[in-house]
Amino acid sequence: VSTRYYYGEAVANAGDVISLPAEESRHLLKTMRGRTGDRIVVFGAGRQFSAELTGVDGSLAVVTLMDPVPASAPPSVAMAFAIPWIKGGKTEFLIQKLTEIGASEMIIFQARREVARGDDSKLDRLVRVALEACKQCERIDVPTIKLASSLSKAIDASGMILPAQTFLLHERTEVLLGSAYNSLHGRPAKVLFASGPEGGWHPEEVEEVQSRVTLVSLGPRILKAETAPLVAASAMLAFSGDL
Ligand code: SAM
Repeated sequence: VSTRYYYGEAVANAGDVISLPAEESRHLLKTMRGRTGDRIVVFGAGRQFSAELTGVDGSLAVVTLMDPVPASAPPSVAMAFAIPWIKGGKTEFLIQKLTEIGASEMIIFQARREVARGDDSKLDRLVRVALEACKQCERIDVPTIKLASSLSKAIDASGMILPAQTFLLHERTEVLLGSAYNSLHGRPAKVLFASGPEGGWHPEEVEEVQSRVTLVSLGPRILKAETAPLVAASAMLAFSGDL
């Protein structure tokens, strides 16, 4: 049962009295039947506090922040992911799992060979999935989620400019992610992984970004679209000493 609630990205300090956002208030007051005087933990903007439910303002829970509560550190290398829309709820699955593993940013793009279509109306739901995963795994830095119309636009949105740190997961390439990572000079601040849809990359899609990425393999087995990013994320934690 969750007793952690997200207050948003506003800067807050011990002693502040704040209202929780509508969805979090509903969860605390209705689902969890919170009562004045209840002790909870709240987090947001990379901080976490013990707090007390001190009132109700309309439908919003009003809480008083008490002591800061230490939280787990993010992975030492920030991991961004460009992942395609995938049918059957698998994009949501990936957002949940990548958030648990520690992704800092996820950019969902429209892949050429994927029939599943996404649009802006789905963004709120994806953000909610990431937030719920943060609450569950006791993470306080909520990952950024963006949408892009293509792989190339997804790389633009990530801000990555170094091809050596921008890994395009490709099952038909020889270079293993491990050796590509080991040939980097020093530990990067951030890497981006781009993974393809169920039907695989369209050759033109890869061609378009060829000069901006390093093609890497995750080994000889063909992984499903919802497996490959998770393997890359886990491997990255291991390479950087976070596992
Ligand atoms: N249809 C493709 C085929 O049969 O060759 C397979 C695509 S795979 C299901 C989906 C995506 O996962 C790929 O586009 C790639 O990004 C990633 N992927 C799967 N296996 C991989 C591997 N062994 N190494 C690197 N990436 C892999």
